[in-house]
Parts: sequence; structure tokens; C-alpha cells
Amino acid sequence: MQANELHQLTTHEAHELLKQRKISSAELTKSVLKRIAEIEGKVHACVTIAEDIALKEAEKVDDYIKTAHEITPLTGIPILIKDVICTKGIRTTCGSKMLENFVPPYDATVIEKLKAQKAVIVGKTNMDEFAMGSSTEHSAFFPTHNPWDLSRVPGGSSGGSAAAVAVDETIYALGSDTGGSIRQPAALCSVVGLKPTYGRVSRFGLVAFASSLDQIGPITKDVTDCALVMNVISGYDSRDSTSAPYPVPDYTRQLIPSIKGLKIGIPREYLVEGVQNQVKAALEAAINKLQELGAEIDWEVSLPHTKYALAAYYILAPSEASANLARYDGVKYGFSERNARNVIETTERTRQFGFGLEVKRRIMLGTYALSAGYYDAYYLKAQKVRTLIKQEFDQAFEKYDALVTPTSPIVPFKLGEKLEDPMQMYLSDVCTLPINIAGIPAISIPAGFADNLPIGMQIMGKPFSEEILLRIAFAYEQTTDWHKRKPPLS
Ligand code: GLN
Repeated sequence: MQANELHQLTTHEAHELLKQRKISSAELTKSVLKRIAEIEGKVHACVTIAEDIALKEAEKVDDYIKTAHEITPLTGIPILIKDVICTKGIRTTCGSKMLENFVPPYDATVIEKLKAQKAVIVGKTNMDEFAMGSSTEHSAFFPTHNPWDLSRVPGGSSGGSAAAVAVDETIYALGSDTGGSIRQPAALCSVVGLKPTYGRVSRFGLVAFASSLDQIGPITKDVTDCALVMNVISGYDSRDSTSAPYPVPDYTRQLIPSIKGLKIGIPREYLVEGVQNQVKAALEAAINKLQELGAEIDWEVSLPHTKYALAAYYILAPSEASANLARYDGVKYGFSERNARNVIETTERTRQFGFGLEVKRRIMLGTYALSAGYYDAYYLKAQKVRTLIKQEFDQAFEKYDALVTPTSPIVPFKLGEKLEDPMQMYLSDVCTLPINIAGIPAISIPAGFADNLPIGMQIMGKPFSEEILLRIAFAYEQTTDWHKRKPPLS
């Protein structure tokens, strides 16, 4: 491979070459930076490119590699980070004017963990403001374009990370997922995205959207890379009170090309109206593949409460968001509208000019749902529905090792198509939201194309069953080359 093509490598391929001292981290990082320079004008995946920091770090890592006996799988490898995760000394905007100039004085736990492995942070990726959206069009700065068709959205809210991975602007990336924001853009850009079990990955340093739903996870070029990143970012963190005190397995351990005997259910509620025929057809073909690989498929699973998930999510997530976003008051940090006569007006005007329309809509929805007199009717009711959805999944996982559904009911849609119709935008996540509501893990992997537009398959499992999901994903990936296809841009 030529030095100027190194950006095309996966993490495990790059690691092999670094280990054998065939390439240097500086060469790899330069190739990625060159790719970014070539492609950004079309895709707009990045908010900040930390070129100098990345090159300096890569050189430092190369000095270390020269003397080190062994290097770990992420050492010296460039990564892009969704701009909702705090990076010390690198601006963290959350896609919002409110934090446009915010430079965190500390690193998120996942960043500390990556740095401990000597990963090379290259920049920060675009996103829907405060992670609210499904198209990355709600970024306060610019929309990201889908590399498979520049007139279409990359999905969201981690659309910058997914597009960047798809088009080799990085070797891998991190995203965050509150209702589908890792998996849906991964599906729409034909890359791998995993939303871990709630509590598996520390959220310390992740700017909060809806705290009972948010998780950080990997967006990668293949399933092996996903497992490697999970090995590093998972684990207990005393600084996150929701962090689970369980040991981290080696997630690569179960990457074997067999799924013989695994029981996989297909919940019918995920294949009803609204799912495009081509998506359905691709999914059915993928499921048949899983059967050929030895899985026992049950097509007759029913999760009847699925239909309430969207409604419950759009009470719960905005409610939590309205509380979390109260900190942006123009006093503590971030944007502040100084042109005001008193402190109340400062806060009012800061929010008026600092937040975009979608964020304001969520704050209003949430404030309403939590207000006295409505709390029981909306918020409490939604919490009860949440419990029912969770119980339904628990019961299903007594019988099945995993459930398989489409990730997105539709292929990437046109930029602007759903911007005026929030309900349509919210429907992009019907297949992914229930997973966050239940706190379970789910992975999206490339599963085909319809007219050159990507289709993703979602595999979900019981809490802390990431290993099984990775195993199924890996076995399927071995039999297809969807993940190897590159957008026409390349
Ligand atoms: N699209 C969903 C929303 O707008 C989910 C976003 C997310 O997962 N961060 O809330």
C-alpha cells in the first residue's frame, strides 16, 4: 500500500503494519489529514481539525514505538471524536453556538483511556446540536453530507463521525447514542456502529442530552475494529455513578465465523408499515444468511409495546434534556449574550440566540411534560411504558440470544426533506429508540444497498451481551463484502 493510501486501512490492519514497523504513526496521520483536506469540502464531517496536535502526537508515538517491545491495538492510530465528548485543549462545541468557543479544561474518561493507549486524536466531528436529530442538519454550523450521495443526509446525530469513517477521513471514530445516534448514521453511511449496554462505557465528560439514555460507542470500518475499540473504552468509572462495576471481557475473543445454535428472533413489529420494501428485502436476505451460518431463526416474535416506544422516548428524552440544558444560562460558561439589562434578560437572550430551533422545541416539550399537573399524565406515564418495554425485552431474551431488525426503516433521505416536519424526522429512529429505553446493547452493520444507498441491520441483545452481538455481526460480515465497498467519492 502506498503511503498516501494509508487512510483506507482499518484499525487492525493499521496496527499490524505499525507493529511490524512497516509504517509510522506520522505517515498514517498525514495520510488521514491529506484525505480530510481533499474531501472535507464535499462531505463537511468535521467541526475542528486538530492538525498540529495530531502530528505532534504522532511523532511522539513514533518515538515511543521505536523503543517499545509491544504496542497495543490503538497505539498510533488516528481517531475522530464526536464533538459532544470533552477533549482537553480541543474545542468541544456540541454542534451548538452555545459552546462554539468552549475549550474543555479536562478530558472525558473515554478520551483518557484512548490517550493511555496512545491513540492520535485528529479532530472533532459534526453533529446535530446537543445530539438532537437524525440527519446532522441541526448542527449550528453546517450540515454534513452523505458520501454515498452528497444530496442526502448521513443520518444523525453522529453523522459527522459516520460519514468520516465511511469516506476514510479517519481510521475510526467515536459517537454517542441516545435514541439511535450511533446506529442510524452507521446504517446510512454503511459502517459499523455499536451502542453499548447502559453503564458499560463511562459518560464522564460526555455533554449530557438525556442522561438515562445516553451512551458513547465506536463507529468503525468493520466488526473487528469495533471489538478492539470496545476493549479500550469499556469499564467501570467512579466518576460516572451509572457506570457498571463489571469486568471487561476481551471483545475479540468471540469473533469466530460460526453462530451455530444461536437463537435469533425477528420481532414483527419492526417490519411493518413505514419500512421501505428494499430495506425489508435486504434484511430478509441478511437473515437468511444468518440461518445458513447455523443460527436458528424465529420469524414469529412479537414485542407489542414497541409501538409506544417513540411516544415514550419523546417525553423522556426532552424532559431530561430540559433539565440538563438549564445549565446554559449565560453565566457559568459558554455563550453569553451581554447585551442585556439584568441577569434574567442575560439568561433569556443567551438561550434565545445560543440555542437552535430543535433544541428549543425539546426544552419546551420537556418543560411542559415535567410541569405540575402534567407530570403524572406524561412523564410518569412514559416511565411506566418504559418499564413495560424493558420487561418485554427481558422476556424475549429468555428465549433468544439476539433479536434482528432493520436499523433504519429507510435509506438516506434528501437534505432538507424532513427539516420542516419534526414528526417525520423523529420516525427515522423508530427501530433504534426502544433499545435505549430498555438500556440494552445493539450493533448496526452494513447489510446491503438499494440503488447504491446503504442499508443497515441491527442486532440487539440482553444487557452486557456485546460479545454475542459482535460474534453474530462478525460471522455475517465474513460472508459479505458490503463493508468493503467504498462511496463513489473515493
Ligand atoms: N434522533 C434521536 C433524537 O433526536 C436520537 C438522537 C440521539 O441518539 N442522540 O433524539
